[in-house]
Amino acid sequence: MEKEMEYTDYAIEQIIQLCKTPSPSGFTKKATQYLEQELSKLGFKAEYSRKGSILATLGGEGNPLVLAAHVDTLGAMVRSIKPNGRIRFTKIGGYPENNIENENVIIHTRDGKEYTGTVYINGPAAHVYRDSGSSKRDDEHMEVVLDEIVKSKEDTLKLGIYPGDFITLDPRTIYTPSGFLKTRHLDDKASAGILLALAKAVSEDKLKLERKVSILFTTYEEVGHGAASGFPADTAEMISVDMGAVGDDLGTDEYTVSICAKDSGGPYDWDVTDTLIRLAKEHKLQYAVDIYPFYGSDVEGALRAGHDIKHGLIGPGVFASHGYERTHRQGIENTLKLLWEYLLLA
Ligand SMILES: [Zn+2]
Repeated sequence: MEKEMEYTDYAIEQIIQLCKTPSPSGFTKKATQYLEQELSKLGFKAEYSRKGSILATLGGEGNPLVLAAHVDTLGAMVRSIKPNGRIRFTKIGGYPENNIENENVIIHTRDGKEYTGTVYINGPAAHVYRDSGSSKRDDEHMEVVLDEIVKSKEDTLKLGIYPGDFITLDPRTIYTPSGFLKTRHLDDKASAGILLALAKAVSEDKLKLERKVSILFTTYEEVGHGAASGFPADTAEMISVDMGAVGDDLGTDEYTVSICAKDSGGPYDWDVTDTLIRLAKEHKLQYAVDIYPFYGSDVEGALRAGHDIKHGLIGPGVFASHGYERTHRQGIENTLKLLWEYLLLA
């Protein structure tokens, strides 16, 4: 399996670039343009769906398989400007508000300007507010404080900031010498990088496809309808490549490829899941089969939209999901290897 290893470095480079490219659901053009360029360097044509997902056909014939990863992430949007010029936000995607407390953000205006700021609780000074530690974390009790001299609603509006502007979170991307990748948005840019690495392996003739394989990068997964459309009508099977959940009694950690047998949308296809488990065993990969309690994937969106396809879900284990996330090179590599072996099957 030596040949797969060289592609892990490439996958990690791509993950880092993607994590640094802001793309909350609804504001994903920078990420999809990046993917389009990278796919073109590899010799593949990116086809856009109307709602902005990207599909690339890698080649092969028969039994069409789609591997889907999402490049939209969590984020926020300006809900209103307060009388003091600060911003009340509304969340994009699901997460507890304390996960963005004290985070630096960028506000992207509709006319293309960018302003920086920080998410604070209302009254963050510990020397002034006795209950700053215990006050409720929600959009009513938190605000974005701009790095601009604004003292009134008028001041902020004058900058060109209005309700409906997107707010993106500083990913704080760090790759440590010990192989840990700590950053926001590993969900699901970790998997998007892995799909690019598979595309690279196909383009360099290192990976020979025994069936028709396409890769799909969706842009509305965090809000529930990512892969409801945007893939070929002949698709027989779709595997969501998305982060593995870590915690409590689950076997997945940052070093494993997680194979999901059931999540909040119900069980995954028996044949697909069983084959993935068999391959992971055969090739002595670090893997775990898990049930994710609060999780829905892109392929469930496709099923609920009425597509008659077989379905599976695998991905690298991601610690602290929907927060400041963490995975490890080993988790990326195990996921890449499992998909590689799966693509060698007819
Ligand atoms: Zn995800």
